[in-house]
Amino acid sequence: MKTYENHSLLPYNTFGIDVDASYLVEYDSEEELVQLLQLDLLKENKFLHIGGGSNLLFIGNYQGVILHSHIMGIEVKNVTDSDVFVKVGSGVVWDDFVAYCVAKNYGGVENLSLIPGEVGATPVQNIGAYGVEVKDVIYKVECIDVATGEKRIFTNPECKFAYRDSIFKRELKGKYIVTAVWFKLNRSPRLHVNYGSLAEEIKKYPEPTIHEVRQAVVAIRQRKLPEPKVLGNAGSFFLNPVVDQNHFAKLQQQYPDMPFYDLHDGTFKIPAGWLIEQCGWKGKSVGKVAVHGSQALVLINKGGANGLDIINLSDSIRQSVREKFEIELTPEVNLIFG
Ligand SMILES: Cc1cc2nc3c(=O)[nH]c(=O)nc-3n(C[C@H](O)[C@H](O)[C@H](O)COP(=O)(O)OP(=O)(O)OC[C@H]3O[C@@H](n4cnc5c(N)ncnc54)[C@H](O)[C@@H]3O)c2cc1C
Repeated sequence: MKTYENHSLLPYNTFGIDVDASYLVEYDSEEELVQLLQLDLLKENKFLHIGGGSNLLFIGNYQGVILHSHIMGIEVKNVTDSDVFVKVGSGVVWDDFVAYCVAKNYGGVENLSLIPGEVGATPVQNIGAYGVEVKDVIYKVECIDVATGEKRIFTNPECKFAYRDSIFKRELKGKYIVTAVWFKLNRSPRLHVNYGSLAEEIKKYPEPTIHEVRQAVVAIRQRKLPEPKVLGNAGSFFLNPVVDQNHFAKLQQQYPDMPFYDLHDGTFKIPAGWLIEQCGWKGKSVGKVAVHGSQALVLINKGGANGLDIINLSDSIRQSVREKFEIELTPEVNLIFG
């Protein structure tokens, strides 16, 4: 276990925001985490658990303890005729795990290639891309109860997964720390390649395997999304909003070309990026921050911006979308106020 005082969080957030934490503690095992939770340091200070910091926006210095897992390991636990069950430590880099699965021909996560962050955050966020969500392959989630230090295992249904959402973001927010995730992967992979730009990219491969699906996803992402090490960002800044039938009908009459996704429950999801683009924000700069030129859903730190610069830009975008479409955009990114 390592404890640092007044530590810079610059290397710990992909937005590249230069703030400090009063303390940063990195632990290497579940046992260390349990010991840590008993220390006065955590009893006397507020704390926040982070992964790779790729979905966080620090608004100011963090006056408390930042916890970070270094629990590593990828372990095959069980193999059946059709499936393989793999336990992965919360500190493992997500894309390292995807690369491992693709190399072994374990299907299920290849569409989620190159998503930044660590395994511990994936059930919290229910990460998703190109028609696949991590909930489709999570078998169970091992956690430590912050209040008691006891271990608790959540089955997939208990995680209450929804679009970029889970019980860990809602009722149990801050109450459990994920230490490991078990994945159920397919030994005879079935490909999911009919989604948007992946359907086009995969045509380059006459008989695609999961290896080629990974290659195609990586190629699209590298073309479309800014590399955080070059341009600070946290991926999609807003969630795609969902509107009811009446609102949808009104919008469709006014904007017949509006893209949408029918959720088949009387509601419709509208791509937030399209709404932002229609308001003229795509590629626009405001001081040290900007809306990315190829993907309007991504806000970028052009260098030296602080959290408030990003929040101000996000507020202006939300206002434009509200006025033009009567839709309230909600940030996907976790806003961390000092
Ligand atoms: C360029 C770019 C592209 C992206 N593309 C996608 C995409 O295609 N799809 C997608 O879904 N996301 C995408 N994201 C968002 C991000 O990668 C995911 O949300 C990712 O899961 C965040 O992981 P992290 O380890 O960085 O978590 P962090 O950002 O550090 O934390 C996210 C949340 O998880 C909590 N948390 C972290 N670790 C633990 C733990 N061990 N126990 C309990 N809680 C924990 C934190 O408190 C916080 O609430 C993208 C981000 C970037 C920068």
